[in-house]
Amino acid sequence: MNIILLGPPGAGKGTQARRLAEERNMVQLSTGDMLRAARTSGTDMGKRVADVMDRGDLVTDEIVIGLIREQLTYDEPAGGYIFDGFPRTLAQADALGNLLTELGEGLDSVIEMKVDDEALVARITARSTCSNCGEVYNDQIKPIPADGVCTNCGEKAEFTRRADDNADALTTRLMAYYKQTSPLIGYYYARGDLTTVDGLASMDDVAGAIKAALA
Ligand code: AMP
Repeated sequence: MNIILLGPPGAGKGTQARRLAEERNMVQLSTGDMLRAARTSGTDMGKRVADVMDRGDLVTDEIVIGLIREQLTYDEPAGGYIFDGFPRTLAQADALGNLLTELGEGLDSVIEMKVDDEALVARITARSTCSNCGEVYNDQIKPIPADGVCTNCGEKAEFTRRADDNADALTTRLMAYYKQTSPLIGYYYARGDLTTVDGLASMDDVAGAIKAALA
């Protein structure tokens, strides 16, 4: 089963994608994680995208489609793929459709995670991530453990805030979402693939709603 998690920054796509990957033996493909990894390892591409990402703009379709193409070629789909943060433009959506067709695969479901802007700002400016496993924490609802041991991976870890999780970059990221990504809601709705879930519900309730959509 191949699915897309669609939603603005901070909607909880990464959290739900990790959960689905674990529960269903699926492969999570997050273009944001891939780009951050390219930056950390200092590749040419990583250096080229750094400023764009820090500003909150989208990197080029060519780069992200290339990243996804590499993964689809080399990764064996176990329970299938979860596309997290990809596609973000109509060109990426078309490219994904073509790549899946080339592999003899299809898209089974697109889950839109809906969250209002005010909640997104509150979530994003309060979030930090375990540098070991990527588990997401939130200053208000899920604070970093006092002993510094991640509740997910059990490792003593660093908890970092993303460079683009600040008010300025977030405004740009939200604009990019509404201008470039939200047209995908209509695109997938028209194909009959779209289910919308309330991203403001508790993590377990969102997971339940996604499970129901995939049943
Ligand atoms: P994310 O972790 O998904 O919020 O992505 C972080 C940043 O990486 C975004 O603000 C963009 O600059 C870039 N990015 C991630 N995925 C894409 C994509 N599919 N298309 C264009 N840019 C992307």
